Amino acid sequence: MSKVLIIGAGGVGGVVAHKCAQVPEVFEEIMLASRTVSKCDAIPAELNRPIQTAAVDADNVPELVALIKKFGPEMVINVALPYQDLHIMDACLETGVHYLDTANYEPIDEAKFEYKWQWEYQDRFKEKGLMALLGSGFDPGVTNVFCAYAQKHFFDEINYVDILDCNAGDHGHPFATNFNPEINIREITQRGKYWENGEWIEIDPMSQSWTFDFPEVGPRKAYLLYHEEEESLVKNIKGLKRIRFWMTFGEEYITHLRVLQNVGMTRIDPVMFEGHEIVPIKFLKALLPDPASLSQGYTGKTSIGCLIEGVKDGETKKCFIFNVCDHAKCHEEVNAQAVSYTTGVPAMIGAMMMCNNVWKSEGVYNMEQFDPDPFMDKLNIHGLPWNVQWL
Ligand code: NDP
Repeated sequence: MSKVLIIGAGGVGGVVAHKCAQVPEVFEEIMLASRTVSKCDAIPAELNRPIQTAAVDADNVPELVALIKKFGPEMVINVALPYQDLHIMDACLETGVHYLDTANYEPIDEAKFEYKWQWEYQDRFKEKGLMALLGSGFDPGVTNVFCAYAQKHFFDEINYVDILDCNAGDHGHPFATNFNPEINIREITQRGKYWENGEWIEIDPMSQSWTFDFPEVGPRKAYLLYHEEEESLVKNIKGLKRIRFWMTFGEEYITHLRVLQNVGMTRIDPVMFEGHEIVPIKFLKALLPDPASLSQGYTGKTSIGCLIEGVKDGETKKCFIFNVCDHAKCHEEVNAQAVSYTTGVPAMIGAMMMCNNVWKSEGVYNMEQFDPDPFMDKLNIHGLPWNVQWL
């Protein structure tokens, strides 16, 4: 049985707290800490057993170290923002505690995410006998595990992967993001990128699309984006010739985003306004609905999976491994929408794999580097059942 410290009390943090609280035989003691402690304090009333809460600025390593020493967890689940990843990893190294996150580090002043910074911690985690599990959300996270599962059970060699992410839900707002608005908009407005025949190919943002028939949702137009799991899957999946990532967006969303971009509201650099420096995207975040507040009345489903083509016993085969998640059911269970839920459940399962020593190693790892079977079993048990369609 373990003690776990969850950092970040947003949409995803709330789900992680709920899901860890549901498994007392693994997570004996839980602390939820975040910058705004009132957000942490609102969660325990929703749970079936007590958890502790605390205020912490996760950009302040000494403050993190003091909190970790005081609470004494075996591991930290980082569901704050990607900007905090390296600070929390530093604090884990200093206190001898394992680490897990759901999104890779990105510098606050540059919309660029890659694993380079976190992979550089490999030797330090190894030397301390600690493990860091990177990207244990849905995508990255479950999508990496789906690829590892297909590699283990279905194919001798995987040649093509298309990760397809559809949110066909309706939250009733003209424009809102389903996870942190700043991180979401930075991701979507970047140039698109995919990997083919050993090279990364860049394209203009949202300049390639196709219509895919998503299970339980139907045909939806999906746009090519760069997504972080491509970087590790390229290294870890044998025989890969191409990997791409696609996400669906409604016309309303795209129109709002285009206008916001055109008027400069998505800028990440400071501008002077009436004698004050403001960062437009941070101001925009303050105006938009909080992702944690969207779940009431949210209808529809997410349908996310990996379309995988490869060779088995000399024959070409193609399958779609996917999960479908219902917003309203997530709200009913944990007071959250499906995007927070599909991220928070795998974060809890990843932590469970580590606390139970099922996934055990020293150093910094991505999800596809471990045996996928126990994780896939837990997805079925803890609210994200998966399915395979042969095409
Ligand atoms: P939210 O914006 O709802 O929550 C983020 C939380 O982090 C807030 O409670 C915020 O505090 C807290 N926080 C921010 N800065 C600090 C800090 N310096 N110290 C302590 N706490 C801080 O975001 P989400 O819950 O939607 O997303 C959480 C993470 O999950 C993000 O990193 C996101 O990229 C990732 N994610 C991953 C997905 C995947 O599938 N892999 C999918 C969706 C999200 P405050 O309330 O004070 O602002």
